[in-house]
Amino acid sequence: MSAQLDAASAAHDRATAASDAPIAASVVTKASTAPPIKARHVKPTPRPLTWRCERCDKLIRGTGIGFGYVDLREASAAQQGRLRGPDGQALKAPWHIAHAKCAPDITKPLSAHTVAWCDKMTTIEALLTHMADLSRVPWFGGTDWGALVRTVLAETEFHEVETSERRAERSAARARRKAEGLPEGDPRHGTETGYLNWSCRCTECQIFWATQGRACRARVKTALTEANRIRADVDAGGLVELDTVMPMN
Ligand SMILES: [Zn+2]
Ligand SMILES: [Zn+2]
Repeated sequence: MSAQLDAASAAHDRATAASDAPIAASVVTKASTAPPIKARHVKPTPRPLTWRCERCDKLIRGTGIGFGYVDLREASAAQQGRLRGPDGQALKAPWHIAHAKCAPDITKPLSAHTVAWCDKMTTIEALLTHMADLSRVPWFGGTDWGALVRTVLAETEFHEVETSERRAERSAARARRKAEGLPEGDPRHGTETGYLNWSCRCTECQIFWATQGRACRARVKTALTEANRIRADVDAGGLVELDTVMPMN
């Protein structure tokens, strides 16, 4: 596995260990006075793999959207040593990655290809499990699974670096805006943009935010009251008039 993924995994373990400690301590100290707090079991989040379609160069996300595929004729030829490169060197059958929509020929009935769906291989662990399944079929040894794994890991690392760079850029931009502050008389005072994006805490923006919270709480309260009324009606065997149910605003 790459150094970058290892580093991410180590950082995750440290964070998990750090967040476990105070929970355990609070259980011990508060046990006699307060109801016991259940220590959360923190499961490590598996890092998702990035699959990119070779045909359209876009990411493959979602269920039943894309797959890795290999030509079974090539795989069996490779296994018999008949798949040769231009210089006569023995080759293995290459796996390719594509969206189902970009490669409709692959899943046609009687197609000589086999597919491994990306949504079954969203993490490194799942990829390994899938490989264990595939390794039971006789033609698997004739395919270049290793190259597929290297491609996916490289793509995943590239994508992670890219997204973390974008995230850093966004937070730097927010810090810049916060430092600059919204100029006086700007129409964005007293709006969500002013309060959240520019972190403005002028009177106008603070009033906007406080009112937002009040309006939201009021909507929740109305909805709850209404829900309780309807439940009481139903419990009492009364009829519910559908057009009075849950006015949300
Ligand atoms: Zn595609
Ligand atoms: Zn403001």
